[in-house]
Amino acid sequence: MTIERTLSIIKPDAVAKNVVGDIISRFEKGGLNVVALKMAHLSKDQAGGFYEVHKERPFYNDLVEFMTSGPVVIQVLEGEGAIAKNRELMGATNPADAAAGTIRADFAKTVDENAVHGSDAPETAKAEIAFFFSDDEVCPRTR
Ligand code: ADP
Ligand code: MG
Repeated sequence: MTIERTLSIIKPDAVAKNVVGDIISRFEKGGLNVVALKMAHLSKDQAGGFYEVHKERPFYNDLVEFMTSGPVVIQVLEGEGAIAKNRELMGATNPADAAAGTIRADFAKTVDENAVHGSDAPETAKAEIAFFFSDDEVCPRTR
């Protein structure tokens, strides 16, 4: 495996529940390093642009509404196989199907408000990181 970077978003439902620290702790305990981090309240244009790939899906408008309903915490995670590792820590899209001990099983209840976003492939990770962070906002670990 290789060292990868992936984009993670702690969604408005999880921020509202005050589980930002718990979720970041899952990433750290899972061997992923936070190399960029910010809080933001997304505009409709930002959320709509980020989820452009889902534009034709029936849940798109509700997804944009949800993602702009409160602030989010956006981070770049780095580590061995970080993209798959993050998806594994997150659990399935629908919390009802998420394996025990995953973030979505523990912190989410419904498929639409499911606590976290994670990139699903190297190309999407690269594009999603660039969507939210400039190169100089990503801080490679030096120790
Ligand atoms: P994932 O976030 O696991 O990569 P998708 O990329 O398929 O899942 O979907 C993006 C987001 O859209 C999901 O995380 C969820 O918030 C929302 N979503 C997906 N499927 C549904 C659905 N059937 N009904 C409502 N919202 C959904
Ligand atoms: Mg996805």
